[in-house]
Amino acid sequence: MKAIELKGLTPDKIITKIGPLFTADQKKSGILASMSMGQFILESGWGKSELAQKANNCFGMKKNLSGNTWAGSTWDKKSVYEKVTAEYKNGKDKYYIKAAFRKYSSIELSIADHSAYLNGAMNGSVKRYAGLKGCKDYKQALGIIRAGGYATSSQYGRDVIKIIEQYNLTRFDVKEEAKKKEKKGTKKMKINVHAGHTKQSGNAPGASGIVHESVEDRKIANELIKILKKRGHKVHKCTSNGKNSRDNLQRIVTKCNKHKVDLDVSIHLNCYNKSAHGTETLIFSSDSKAKPYAKRIDANLTKLGFTDRGVKVRNDLYVLRRTNAPALLVETFFCDNRGDCNLYKKLGYKKIAKAIADGIAPVK
Ligand SMILES: [Zn+2]
Repeated sequence: MKAIELKGLTPDKIITKIGPLFTADQKKSGILASMSMGQFILESGWGKSELAQKANNCFGMKKNLSGNTWAGSTWDKKSVYEKVTAEYKNGKDKYYIKAAFRKYSSIELSIADHSAYLNGAMNGSVKRYAGLKGCKDYKQALGIIRAGGYATSSQYGRDVIKIIEQYNLTRFDVKEEAKKKEKKGTKKMKINVHAGHTKQSGNAPGASGIVHESVEDRKIANELIKILKKRGHKVHKCTSNGKNSRDNLQRIVTKCNKHKVDLDVSIHLNCYNKSAHGTETLIFSSDSKAKPYAKRIDANLTKLGFTDRGVKVRNDLYVLRRTNAPALLVETFFCDNRGDCNLYKKLGYKKIAKAIADGIAPVK
């Protein structure tokens, strides 16, 4: 962006246009956006000063600045703009000289050069503005600037603060939470969780073997919801208790599709011939977005000691077919198999729920 683009604009329009440039600069340089933006407005008169308009130089950056020894300068080291400027002898006697200023091809380069200067300028063997990089408080930041001798008048800091507060410039500062998220990659998810079938006393409970499916799947699903919520995810409980099996499935799917989520999770226990055993997780198709979650869940349950029956594609199951979001169904273990039930009793539903939660949204 060039300063001439700001020429006819009102302060509010200018702020909307240039604000993101300062946010972007803070992400790279660590110099607080609200502070450098306030400085920009004060020093360049909203980008309308002669130096800004003619040279995109918005901070009065001279050709020779602090010995030009600091790193990261974005100035091309040759383009200059000469301008008559007022200097003060002994701090009071005003006189005029022709001085050479840095000329940039854009405002962005001017902002970046200014930040590089603030980060790198030395005062003997120490940094002139030590502590400024990463400073999140504009008043503190301006104190550091003043202590480093950025401006001779103490009015300078007060003027910048006034601008920051009047125009609420802190809205352009990089938010701490956003940064943390980026760093740790802990994206918050939206998840539907339900236990299969009606409750045990209802009209369509699940399988019964050594343990009852509807009793145990509810314990696991409820614990899973608790863990995921604790980890900061948005979880909807979609467990239902319908009039019959079909009605129950419809109720579950209706609840699921009320929310726009990243994943639908259905918790079941398997049942077959007492000898079949192990864990499996079902998905609708081999390219389902739920597949990576299913793989991790299956691996985690296998790690607990259940025989790995793998991730299986099942396109005939109502909840997998009718839910809008990527969906998976955990057949946790066989409720009619002695070995599986013994292992389950030994582990407890909480460990099972945690293994599933770790497959959905691991803690990094
Ligand atoms: Zn079931």
